[in-house]
Amino acid sequence: MRPVRWLTPATGYLNGYTHTLNPYVGCAYGCSYCYVRRLPVALFRPEPWGEWAEGKRGDPASLKRELARAKAKGPVAVFFSSATDPYQPLEAKLRLTRGLLEAMAEAEAPPDFVLLQTRGPLVTRDIDVLQRLGGHVRVSMTVETDRDDVRRALTPTAPPLAARLRALRELAEAGVAVQAAVSPLLPHTPAFAEQLASSAPRVVLDDYFRGDGSSGRRSERLGMRETYARHGWSEWYTPQRMDELAEALRKRMPPEAVVVSAEGFAPPALS
Ligand code: SF4
Repeated sequence: MRPVRWLTPATGYLNGYTHTLNPYVGCAYGCSYCYVRRLPVALFRPEPWGEWAEGKRGDPASLKRELARAKAKGPVAVFFSSATDPYQPLEAKLRLTRGLLEAMAEAEAPPDFVLLQTRGPLVTRDIDVLQRLGGHVRVSMTVETDRDDVRRALTPTAPPLAARLRALRELAEAGVAVQAAVSPLLPHTPAFAEQLASSAPRVVLDDYFRGDGSSGRRSERLGMRETYARHGWSEWYTPQRMDELAEALRKRMPPEAVVVSAEGFAPPALS
């Protein structure tokens, strides 16, 4: 059996990243708007997307060797993860993501930047390792709405919203760089801007039109317009809603702390 390769060269919409890192295949969260559900990894499985997830079988410590090889060629920026959530429910037992973060922290050639993209409050378990990675890591916590009825309708098995906001505050208090990722923006209450501004020093906004990498076509193919109509939310299926939330946030936060679309997920310039 060939050993697992943790790092995959980044392509396409992940501008500025050299690699992606997916410790799991599949995802227990099964968001209705997830583009991965239309990729071969999901289509070739008999189970519906969202009902399966498996840890990759490999030694997280071998990431150190991969990092050394990659760093010999230049700066390394890792998007962790692009096709799953690194804090699956399974992660509580398997500790794969934790092992990979530890390998990064211990590596002689650590990555220059890691974006840890998750909706799992379990990330707070790893604050000690994140602190060791210091300025090389940013946790990007998905919080697409403050309405639990919306979460239950579109992402029923995803972690509670209040727990995600709490995790953001806990990480920030521990000195870990964080951002709230409102991605994609979902129907929310007028209190959402205030909740975001009081929980994270940086907020990234994205929607079905600017953030799906195909000017909204992937979201259309997933039937999101019809899903919104079914729930009586059609007035939310427009780019205007994101502009309104951005404006509300800029009244509460420094303008540079509110970042829109791809720029919000991009790594800092690496040298
Ligand atoms: S958590 Fe991410 S990878 Fe998992 S289903 Fe939701 S959008 Fe897809």
